[in-house]
Amino acid sequence: MPHSSGGGSHGGGYHSSSSSSSYHSSGGGSHGGGYTSPYVSKTPYSGAKKYVYYNRINGHRSYYYYKGDPQKNGSLSSAILGGLVLSLLAGFIIYIILFASIFIPQKITPAKDTEIYIEDQVGVISDKDRLYNSMKAFQDKTGITPGIQIVDEEKWENYADLETYALSEYMRLFDDEKHWLFVISYPRDYANSEFVNWEWEGMAGDYIGPAVNSDSESKFTKIIHKHLLRTEPGEVGKEMAAAFDEYTGVVFEKQISFGGIVFSIIVVVIYLAMLYKLIEDAVIGQRIKSAVMISNKARELACEYCGGIYVEGTVTKCPNCGALIPYKKKEDDKKASK
Ligand SMILES: [Zn+2]
Repeated sequence: MPHSSGGGSHGGGYHSSSSSSSYHSSGGGSHGGGYTSPYVSKTPYSGAKKYVYYNRINGHRSYYYYKGDPQKNGSLSSAILGGLVLSLLAGFIIYIILFASIFIPQKITPAKDTEIYIEDQVGVISDKDRLYNSMKAFQDKTGITPGIQIVDEEKWENYADLETYALSEYMRLFDDEKHWLFVISYPRDYANSEFVNWEWEGMAGDYIGPAVNSDSESKFTKIIHKHLLRTEPGEVGKEMAAAFDEYTGVVFEKQISFGGIVFSIIVVVIYLAMLYKLIEDAVIGQRIKSAVMISNKARELACEYCGGIYVEGTVTKCPNCGALIPYKKKEDDKKASK
């Protein structure tokens, strides 16, 4: 069944298409995932043992807390695999979003009935050929057959509204879904009115979709309304021709929905945050393997040669200068025993 493509009235503004294909996100899934227990932490937690790790390059020490066997901590290869899976997943999601949010208009196969319909019951189309040519150009480009009917408001006073009347006229006039009808209500005595109270409604067949989506319908609604607002009394045909010309010029522009771009950016940000966390966990996970377990009471000592700091009982050489660390206490014990 045809649907309203939008419409409006003089002074009442315009309204958009009754159907909407605008992008709706269903909301993001969970992210982060949290740690699996046991985990490596920089702060103490219940049951965790303290470890010291010396940086191989500069000898700086870092402390970590870990509960469990460090050798069973996640390997670097599983982190790389995780990163790969994460990248593929993010790429796939973005591909789907962009695919859904990019619209590339295409000409439709015209219906059997391609006769351009123009009916003016009020007498406000002064140059019918000019209007016909503009509508024909639109038809040649899109494959959609346009129609215009201009009626006095008496004509549709027994209908609920102009939209209902336009729908019934569409059904009466056309037996396919490839037409686009514009019904414009224009007062017969417009010449004597101070305020010309016009109203209009577009009625689009459901098979015009490949050429014109609902965003594009809204675009034409805005263009038509703009032109009708500037119409001199009695010159509806001229402005409708101009509206068709303007729309035909832009109807096949590609469209990217704003929502799709925003959602893609959000996916990229979440992906980068998860990747960063994965890499950070992998680096810390590797460190804990070469870290040394220490007691919470273990003292920090300074190297006699360079002043570099190490934790007692964890190294045989200074992590900073490589000097041998003398086991003073043991030697003292030996001396004492002699
Ligand atoms: Zn040293």
